[in-house]
Amino acid sequence: MPDRKPIPCGAPAATPPRGTTTRPAGRKRGHRQPPSEQSEGVGAWSKRRVLLLNTTFEPLTALPLRRAIVLVVCGKAEVVHGDSAGSTWNSATHSIEIPSVIRLSKFVHVPYRGRVPLSRPALMMRDNHRCAYCGVRAETIDHVVPRSRGGPHTWENCVACCAKCNRRKADYTLRELGWRLSETPKAPRGRHWRLLVGAAEPDPLWLPYLGEAAAH
Ligand SMILES: [Zn+2]
Repeated sequence: MPDRKPIPCGAPAATPPRGTTTRPAGRKRGHRQPPSEQSEGVGAWSKRRVLLLNTTFEPLTALPLRRAIVLVVCGKAEVVHGDSAGSTWNSATHSIEIPSVIRLSKFVHVPYRGRVPLSRPALMMRDNHRCAYCGVRAETIDHVVPRSRGGPHTWENCVACCAKCNRRKADYTLRELGWRLSETPKAPRGRHWRLLVGAAEPDPLWLPYLGEAAAH
């Protein structure tokens, strides 16, 4: 979904009193008033992102908070999780939880299923920052079939690895060492991986949805 911003019709310039709105009463059509920037200040609110799920709970994208609230107010999405502070957004006609995760009311078909580019942060996330051989915290990336022996730099041939295992493995194959992988490395699927690669710190409330989709 395109990231339209700012939402027209006048972002508040300062912090308005809690529970107020500047939207004209009785206005039924046209643009909705964006949420008020409340107690956290304009900067914190404008940086907030909300995870948008399809009706199937598949993660689609991260939206600016204002857009998420507009979707909920328009009835196009429902709040699945409010933010951890339990804040609410109030207008003359609506009172909704400030969302961390929302879900669309109508299914949207997402044809895109392209291959996610291999990157170090995405690989670490796929492997939960754990060494694929011994399970301790991973510090590097290992090529299962070593590059010196023709192993490609692909999702299927790369795993997160600790420094100790990386040194011991050197240019050997798993068969030569008698090592095994508990899981066959695979490319992650789903556009949320691109979303994660671009997001510095995903909201912890998003993780159950991202993990579930990643397992598909
Ligand atoms: Zn290890």
